[in-house]
Amino acid sequence: MKRFVEGEDRKQAVLLPEYLEDYVSDDNPVRVVDVFVDELDLHDLGFDGTAPAMTGRPSYHPSVLLKIYVYGYLNRIQSSRRLERETQRNVELMWLTGRLSPDFKTTADFRRNNGKAIRNVCSQFIVLCRNLDLFSKSIVAIDGSKFKAVNNRDRNFTSGKVQARLQQIDESIARYLSAMETADRTQSDVTEAKTSRISDKISKLKQQMQDLKIMEQRLRDSPDGQVSLTDPDARSMATSGRGTGMVGYNVQTAVDDTHHLIVAHEVTNVGNDRSQLSNMAAQARAATGITELTVVADRGYFKSEEILQCHEVGITAFVPKPLTSGKVADGYFGKQDFIYVAKDDEYICPAQQRLNWRFTNIEHGMTLHCYSSSACTTCDIRKQCTSGKQARRIKRWEHEAVVEAMQQRLDQKPDMMRIRRQTVEHPFGTLKFWMGAAHFLMKTREHVSTEMSLHVLAYNLRRVMAILGTRSMMQKMRA
Ligand code: SF4
Repeated sequence: MKRFVEGEDRKQAVLLPEYLEDYVSDDNPVRVVDVFVDELDLHDLGFDGTAPAMTGRPSYHPSVLLKIYVYGYLNRIQSSRRLERETQRNVELMWLTGRLSPDFKTTADFRRNNGKAIRNVCSQFIVLCRNLDLFSKSIVAIDGSKFKAVNNRDRNFTSGKVQARLQQIDESIARYLSAMETADRTQSDVTEAKTSRISDKISKLKQQMQDLKIMEQRLRDSPDGQVSLTDPDARSMATSGRGTGMVGYNVQTAVDDTHHLIVAHEVTNVGNDRSQLSNMAAQARAATGITELTVVADRGYFKSEEILQCHEVGITAFVPKPLTSGKVADGYFGKQDFIYVAKDDEYICPAQQRLNWRFTNIEHGMTLHCYSSSACTTCDIRKQCTSGKQARRIKRWEHEAVVEAMQQRLDQKPDMMRIRRQTVEHPFGTLKFWMGAAHFLMKTREHVSTEMSLHVLAYNLRRVMAILGTRSMMQKMRA
C-alpha cells in the first residue's frame, strides 16, 4: 500500500518558538551578514546618517538598510519593492532587522545616496579575504562581460541607426503617397476614409523624421557618437554572438585563480576590452597585495601599449595575440614567418634573406622601425610575400621585445589559457544567473557600479562561506 508524507492540519493548534532567534539556525548565512555588517565602521566607510539627528522623525540606522541589501543580493532579491515585502514575511529578514520593515523608497534612496560607501564595503570584504589568506600567491585572470542596462535598444541611437530609420521612413512615405494617389483615382466614401488614415500616418512619419533630425544633431554633439534616452551612460555594444548586440555596460573583473574570488571589478561603458589590461591588473595587485603578479586575459585584451605598461610596473602578462593580419588573410607570409635576430637588429625572411633597418617613423603615437631587403626584386617566392612592386616591409615597434617575451612565455605555458577560462568564466556565469534576464535595475554608470559592487560582495560572501563554513567565517570576522 502506498503512503504519502502528510502535512499538518491547518486548524491544529501549534506552539511556535517564542524567540525569533529560535527560527534561525547557528550556521544560517543570515548570521554571517549580521556579523559582517556589525563589524564594519560605517562612518569611516562614508555612510550618511550614522549619528541620529537631534530633531525630526527617527531614521533607520544605515546598518539595518545595508543588512537588508546584502541579504537581498545574497538571495537574488535586488528590487527595493520586493525587499520591502520580504521584510514583512521572511523570518530570516525579521531576525536580521529586528522586525523592522523600511518602505521601498527608504531602501531605494539608501542605495542611491550611499553608492560610494557601498562600493567601499565591497572593497572592505576583499581586504578581509586578503587578511584571511584566501588569495593565491600569483595568478589573477581578467575578463569582461556585457550586462544589460535599463535602456531598450529602440531608445539607443547611433548615426547608423538614425540613417537606417530615416531611410525606412522615406520608403514608407513614398509607399503611402502612392497608395493615396491610387485612392484618389477611385473616388468613393471608403477611399475617402482610407485617404484620411493614410495622411495621418504620413504626418506621424514626418514628425518622426523631424525628431530623428534633432537626434542627428545630438549625436554630432555626443563625444562617442551615441545617445541613450533612458540610461544616458548605457552604450550599444557588440556581444560574442555574430550580429548580436545589447545596450548595456562592459563589466571588468579580476578573479583570483585559487578560490575564484573577485578581487577587483569596474563597470565601463566602452564596448571592447583593449584598454583595460593595465588598469585591472593594477587594481588586482593593489587589492591582493601580490607583488609578483601574473595576469592572464583573452585575445580581446591584446594591446602592445597595455602589455608594456604591465611590464614596466613588474606585472607579468599572458595575452595571446589576435590573428588579424591582413597579409595572412590575403594569403601572404605573416610577420610571424620573419625571424628577428636581436644581435644584428635584422629580420630573416622565409627566403633566408636579411631585412635590414631602413627608417623609423611614428604611427598612432608608436615609434616603428621599418626593415626590408633589396633581394625582393629577384626573389623566387615573391608571390607568396608581397603584391606590390616594392620590397616587403616589416615594421617593428620600439618595445616589441616585451611582446615577443610574452609570446615566448605563452608558448612555454600553453595551460595558461585553460586556467583563464576555468577561473574567470565561473563568476560571470554565476552573477548573470543570479541577476536574471534584466541584469541591472539602476541607471547611470555610477549607480550601476553600486549595484555591481553589491553583486560582487554577495558572490564573494557566498564563496567564502562555502570555503570556510559559516561558523568559522563568523569567528574569523569577529577576531
Ligand atoms: S619577397 Fe623579399 S622578404 Fe619576401 S621572401 Fe622574398 S626576399 Fe624575403
